[in-house]
Amino acid sequence: MPRPAFANWLSDTNDVTQIFLAAGQIPGLINMAGGLPDPSTWPIADLSALAANAISNHPKDALAYAPIEGLPSLRDTIAARFSAPGLHLHRDNVMITSGGMQALDLLGKVLLDDGSLIAAQSPAYLGALDAWRPRRPIYRPMHLHANDFDPEAAFQGAQFAYTVPNFSNPTGRLVGLDQRQALLSAAQTTGTWLIEDDPYGTLYYDSAPLPRMLSLSASNSPHEDTPYDGPVIYLGTLSKELAPGLRVGWVIAAPQMIRALVTAKQGSDMSTSGLSQRITQDAFAAGLTDRILPEILALYRARRDALCAAMTTHLADLFTWEIPAGGMFVWATARDPALNTDALLPEALAQGVCITPSSVFDPHGLNRRAIRINFTLNDPEKLTEGVRRLARAAKSCLIK
Ligand code: PMP
Repeated sequence: MPRPAFANWLSDTNDVTQIFLAAGQIPGLINMAGGLPDPSTWPIADLSALAANAISNHPKDALAYAPIEGLPSLRDTIAARFSAPGLHLHRDNVMITSGGMQALDLLGKVLLDDGSLIAAQSPAYLGALDAWRPRRPIYRPMHLHANDFDPEAAFQGAQFAYTVPNFSNPTGRLVGLDQRQALLSAAQTTGTWLIEDDPYGTLYYDSAPLPRMLSLSASNSPHEDTPYDGPVIYLGTLSKELAPGLRVGWVIAAPQMIRALVTAKQGSDMSTSGLSQRITQDAFAAGLTDRILPEILALYRARRDALCAAMTTHLADLFTWEIPAGGMFVWATARDPALNTDALLPEALAQGVCITPSSVFDPHGLNRRAIRINFTLNDPEKLTEGVRRLARAAKSCLIK
């Protein structure tokens, strides 16, 4: 008897994914494809001390099953950190997740039926597309930076709107204040949940951070004794500001949304690691994330500048791009429409560099004109060499 086939969304894995899986094995490869922080930013001594303290002095928090919704003290800490003038966040507004990725997965579980409509910023984060694929949703792409973009029309009939306003993955673009306000007011008028996915919210290199849409919707919690009840579902994570291996993220939303997500989490992993949660709580209390942030910003700012300088030298005749004001990525669009970036990937790998082609950020895999380049993982010399290799790959692609 043949064994049952995989659910068909799993067999969707396209050629590009297969190429990525094989790429990890190539010796000397300069990986500019992922979205990884530099391991040198991890405060290893501090985290070791916090871990030892958590296990020795707080074994019930660290080693028992944690409450599904997260340790109460960590939920209080997050509520306090994200409260703003007029925005009163309570413990009931917060749940802890196993990374931001789990929050995306749980949102798909509680909000999507088969074939539901999602209004998603385009191009969209690959992890979100993966998380929601089992429901085979229909996507309405939102080109937030287009002059004629109309959020109210975009939100009509959608189960939710998905955005990454700070330095989007993959484009690195920032959604401006007016546009944030317009998205929020459309969410309120049309009664649409508005997901604000914010892993890069602290990574501003050139200016002070813009207000979160969560803070802009402060009027939804006018009184201190009533928890926030607005349309924003805010997703945070420690992955970029402390360490991704802790797998700690959080959702801030109306209490009814938190209750639904907690029910879904029970059927997923029961709880986020108590050890990681205790480390996180103590790291916040000790001001660890605030202390290391300036070094992270200086490191990544210099790498962004090095990448963009190398691109100007070696890629200006092949691609156009904007210098991102934060985050981890530069999005480069081929000048020549004949340069198919799916075809560029194997050519780039042959030259010893890996980038991500735009097709994976399009639910229909159709955008083959751009690439995402990461600048946080490699030092300036490697970034420059990676760009040289990429230019050679692009030229040989165009000749073929
Ligand atoms: N959302 C976006 C837009 C991301 O770029 C990432 C990380 N690549 C995540 C969510 C999830 O990150 P994590 O699960 O590590 O918190």
